Amino acid sequence: MSDILKMLKAKDPGEKEFHQAVTEVLETVKPLLDRNPEYRQAAIIERIVEPERVIMFRVPWMDDQGQVNVNRGYRVEMNSAIGPYKGGLRFHPSVSLSILKFLAFEQVFKNALTTLPMGGGIGGSDFDPQGKSDSEVMRFCQSFMSELFRHIGHNTDIPAGDIGVGAREIGYLFGMYKKLQNEFTGVLTGKGLGWGGSLIRPEATGYGNVYFAAEMLATRDDILEGKTCLVSGSGNVAQYTVEKIIELGGKVVTLSDSSGYIYDEEGIDRGKLDFVMRLKNLRRGRIKEYVEKYSESVYTEVDTSLDYNPLWNHKAECAFPSATQNELNEKDAQNLINNGVKLVSEGANMPSTPEAVNIFLNDKTLYAPGKAANAGGVFVSGLEMTQNSMRLSWTKEEVDNRLKIIIKSSHKNCLDTSAEYGAPGNYLAGANIAGFVKVVNAMLDQGLV
Ligand code: NDP
Repeated sequence: MSDILKMLKAKDPGEKEFHQAVTEVLETVKPLLDRNPEYRQAAIIERIVEPERVIMFRVPWMDDQGQVNVNRGYRVEMNSAIGPYKGGLRFHPSVSLSILKFLAFEQVFKNALTTLPMGGGIGGSDFDPQGKSDSEVMRFCQSFMSELFRHIGHNTDIPAGDIGVGAREIGYLFGMYKKLQNEFTGVLTGKGLGWGGSLIRPEATGYGNVYFAAEMLATRDDILEGKTCLVSGSGNVAQYTVEKIIELGGKVVTLSDSSGYIYDEEGIDRGKLDFVMRLKNLRRGRIKEYVEKYSESVYTEVDTSLDYNPLWNHKAECAFPSATQNELNEKDAQNLINNGVKLVSEGANMPSTPEAVNIFLNDKTLYAPGKAANAGGVFVSGLEMTQNSMRLSWTKEEVDNRLKIIIKSSHKNCLDTSAEYGAPGNYLAGANIAGFVKVVNAMLDQGLV
C-alpha cells in the first residue's frame, strides 16, 4: 500500500487533501486486504483511487458592472460500481482538483454506507458566492450548468449542494438544466419543496449527525440532554445540528464562519438560532453580527498566527465540527479532551487532521468520521430521488423516521464491522471497511471496466 501512496504522490504531487483521504482509508482497510488476497490481484486499490472520469471546464460569466469573469468548473465522477454518481457541488475559492478528489473519494464510501444504490461524485468551482448579488450568482450558475448539463442526468450523475451551494444555487442550476434538456427530472437534489424537493432534506445532514452522536452516547448509557456542545460553521449543516441538539436538550455555545466565531455561554436557544438562520440564509451576513444582537456573547476574529482554533478550547462534553476540512488539528484535539469533550461527531467532511484523529482514537473518545456521521444528507437526497421517480412526496414524519432508522443501522454496521476486524469501537475503521467492501465487491462482479 505504501507503493500505491508513493505512486499517487508522484503522479499528482500537489493533491495533499486527496492523499490524506486515501491514506486514512488504506490504513484502516489493511485487515480486510489481508483477508482477501484476491483484491490485490485485481489491483482493486489502484482502481478505486483513480476517478472513473474528471470533467474540467471554463465558466465565463458577467458581473453587475459588465465585467467578464472566468472561473473553473469541475465534476469528479469517482465510482459508479453501486449506482449513478451522487454527491455535492461546492462553490468556494479554495476549490481545487485535490479537494474535489478527496470529497469524491469519501463520498463513495459514505454512499455505500447509506445502503442506497448511489455511486460517488463531487463537483464545483472556485467561484466565491460571498459578496455577489443574486443576479451574479444566477448568471454564474447558468454558465456553469451550460457545460455540466451534458455530463449529468437522473440515471447518470445527480449533483446536490455543499459549501456555497444551497437552495438558491440549486434553483438556478435546475432551471438551466431543465431549459437545456427540455425535461423535468430529479437530476439535482436539494430542490425547493414546490418543485420536487424532499421534506427534511435541508435538515438531514445536521439531524443525521446528531442522531449518530446520540447512538454513540447510548453505547455508554448516556444521552445528549444536558450536554454542552461546540459547533463550528454556521451554514446548512451547523444550523440543523444546533436545531436538533436544542430539541434533544443539549446546549450549544459556539458557531463560526471563516472570519471568526461566537461564544455564548448561556447557549444558543431557538430564538437565537432563528436569528442566525435569517442572518446566514437571507441577509447573507457575518456571524460577528450575533454579538451585536446578543451582547452577552463574545466574538473572536480568526487569528492566523495561532497554531490552534480557540473555538475548540472551551469547556464542553461534545464537539460537532461542521465547517470545512482540516479545521481541527492536533492541538485542538488535545484542547477538546483537556476541556472534557468525550464525543466528536463530524458534520463536515474530514474536518479533523490525521494527528487529531489519532488523539481521539488513543483517548477512546467517541469519534465518528464524517463519512458515517454526515451521511444523513446524501441518504435523504437518495430518498428525494426515489420520490421524484415515484412522482410523489412523503411526509416529514416518514422521511425523518427513515433517516433515524438508517442512521441507527449505519451506526450498528460501523460498530459491528470495527469489532469484526479487530478494532472494536473504532468507527473510522468500521465505516471505511464496511463502505469499502461493498464497493470493491461490486467492482469485482462487474469486471475490468
Ligand atoms: P455552507 O456553505 O452552508 O456553510 C459552510 C460554513 O462553513 C460557513 O459557515 C462557512 O463560513 C464555513 N466555512 C467554509 N469554508 C471555511 C473555511 N475555509 N474556513 C472556515 N470556515 C469555513 O456549507 P454546508 O453547511 O453545506 O457544509 C459544511 C460542511 O459539511 C462541508 O465540509 C461539507 O462538505 C459538509 N457536508 C455538507 C452536506 C450538506 O448536505 N450540505 C452533506 C455532508 C457533508 P463562510 O460563510 O465565512 O464561508
